[in-house]
Amino acid sequence: MSVTFYNFQKLHDEEFRSEVKAEFAKIVDSNGFIEGEYNARFENDFAKMQNTKHCLLVANGTDAIEIALQAYGVGQGDVVGIPSISFYATAEAVYNVGATAVFIDVDPMTGLMCPDSLARVADQHEMKAIIPVHIYGLPAPMLELEKICREKDIRIVEDSAQAQGTFIAPGEPVGSTNNLVTFSFYPTKNLGAFGDAGAVLTQDDELAEEIKSIRNHGRSPFGHRLIGRNSRCDTLQACVLQLKLKKVEEYNKRRKEIAKRYHELLRDLPLRLVPDKFLDLSSWHLYPVGLADESQKMALKEKLAKESIGSALFYEKSLPDEAPLKDVPGEKENGRNFAKTTLCLPMHPFLEEADLQRVKEEISKLL
Ligand SMILES: *Cc1c(COP(=O)(O)O)cnc(C)c1O
Repeated sequence: MSVTFYNFQKLHDEEFRSEVKAEFAKIVDSNGFIEGEYNARFENDFAKMQNTKHCLLVANGTDAIEIALQAYGVGQGDVVGIPSISFYATAEAVYNVGATAVFIDVDPMTGLMCPDSLARVADQHEMKAIIPVHIYGLPAPMLELEKICREKDIRIVEDSAQAQGTFIAPGEPVGSTNNLVTFSFYPTKNLGAFGDAGAVLTQDDELAEEIKSIRNHGRSPFGHRLIGRNSRCDTLQACVLQLKLKKVEEYNKRRKEIAKRYHELLRDLPLRLVPDKFLDLSSWHLYPVGLADESQKMALKEKLAKESIGSALFYEKSLPDEAPLKDVPGEKENGRNFAKTTLCLPMHPFLEEADLQRVKEEISKLL
């Protein structure tokens, strides 16, 4: 029996597939393929789930970051602080709006942006914005980061691509801050479309209008008011997201139970686990563990593969080790080590106790 890394068969079960087909048939008959009612409904419901005022659907998660930066006026000549651990898109977005990046190092236990590193980097580089990433679904330390940013007048875009359902603190979902918060709905995320989609969340009415305009060619009721882009979200994607939204909280609850069970099973092994304080806050998009070094990590990955257990390297390299980013200044050492030692174990809502036992057993044979 294999233990897969994702499980789309069970996510897209018979019931869901027939619901989707019925709704798609309605959309085909209506000839409305861009934005519209489905988008409005999802934007409303997702904003509610994340405890924010506005949700603006866009074409993908990378666009969401770029549009958020543009809405804050970040562009040519500006410097943006990004963590040394993230998906490559976080860095790409900075350069795509014409700004340049500086690295802020991460906490060695979590891969989350480190406030002490931010304070040091902010003394040396004048930053217009930072992009903390809620990596793996773990919440970045927003209170500490916001305190430093307030003193230095630095804007914050929260890259929340992996954090649908993450809580910054008990009762405070990602989205309830006063920052721009961006999401990706790439199919493998906790809430995923049948293709590309993304969103920007904001509590601010004016920024919401600006984002609406940027995503649709700078349009306003009075003509084109700025140089925007096409980053609209298809009706078909909004429809899938709306249907999946009904179950995402139940699935996240299951992910949380699985993370807790993994923690119990793995606690006595020589592994770096995510600190317990995150167990109830994280969306558990991924379940990362830390090994002693890179060769032990690769040995475990191979061993698991041999036993038909999925695992994945998020991320194979830290951002500073990606060739196009090799000259970006800032602090990077923790990120480098974190990428070298981190392996993600299977994590999806359909894992069963026997799967978790098997993963544990195979790991303990090696360590
Ligand atoms: C998935 C992801 C993105 C990019 O989203 P796309 O929808 O693929 O553009 C950005 N940042 C992080 C941390 C991600 O995981």
